Amino acid sequence: MSKRPVITVIGSINMDMVTVTDSVPVQGETIIGERFATVPGGKGANQAVAAARLGGKVQFIGRVGEDAIGKQLMNTLQQEGISINGVEPVTHTGSGTATIIVSNGDNRIIVVPGANKEVTPDYVRKYHDSILSSDLVLLQFEIPLETVKYCLNLCSEHGISVILNPAPARALDAYDWKKAAYITPNETEAKELFSEQQARDRELDEKLIITMGEGGVKFINEGAVHHAPAYNVKAVDTTGAGDTFNGALAVALAENKPLPEAVAFANGAAALSVQRFGAQGGMPTREELNDFFT
Ligand code: ADP
Repeated sequence: MSKRPVITVIGSINMDMVTVTDSVPVQGETIIGERFATVPGGKGANQAVAAARLGGKVQFIGRVGEDAIGKQLMNTLQQEGISINGVEPVTHTGSGTATIIVSNGDNRIIVVPGANKEVTPDYVRKYHDSILSSDLVLLQFEIPLETVKYCLNLCSEHGISVILNPAPARALDAYDWKKAAYITPNETEAKELFSEQQARDRELDEKLIITMGEGGVKFINEGAVHHAPAYNVKAVDTTGAGDTFNGALAVALAENKPLPEAVAFANGAAALSVQRFGAQGGMPTREELNDFFT
């Protein structure tokens, strides 16, 4: 059996607190809702879970609060076989949360980053050795921007490939974007961040792998523009499709698959994920993905 690639995710961990209700209270009102659930999330954790299920040896660098939620979030990662040596609880602030009110097919969301804000460059510096032992590093924008820049610098100095998923969209200058091996915006993020550069910066353009929901994926390989259509599946919940795509892409690239093959692998994994409910809940195992392709 070939060696499992080492993937380090430096990113966010949140607990999604989901309340489903028929109506939404006005200021000062108390109402009785339908149901409540806690669901582990955060783009960093989601992508780490996707990569681990697909065969990556994943190490996570992030922070939780020193609270019950933090313990639960760490357990969830550990149960997926993810190394949490790089997850230290923060004492003075709570775990990251997303409070989600779902009502009549609409949602209202409040994200409190909490401990995720403490993923500072100084914190990450303690885990240099782990980072530099990676085949590939996966980053998103739910931790401080200065930390993302710090990691891009560190990895480019040491020749470690980074996949940067620029979500939620935040601007970097071209110099920083170019330190990533690949940048994976969805269509909305791509429009916001790259529509101007694309016309004039070929080097940056060639790093972009743009996911377009059921429209598939657009990327450039060896100078030619490729469009991989999405697999035709019955989607029941697209939450976390992009996270599955990124985790899968990381595994495939770290296994040295050529880019078109790696994109097909990630496209397939994401197509499987949208057929099941939940972000992490829908993520396929390597076996399931192999079955999908045979
Ligand atoms: P995000 O979740 O970040 O907004 P996208 O919506 O672009 O990202 O979805 C990421 C990827 O998930 C797509 O490129 C595609 O591979 C897959 N995907 C999303 N929606 C569907 C769908 N309805 N059917 C098949 N694949 C899908």
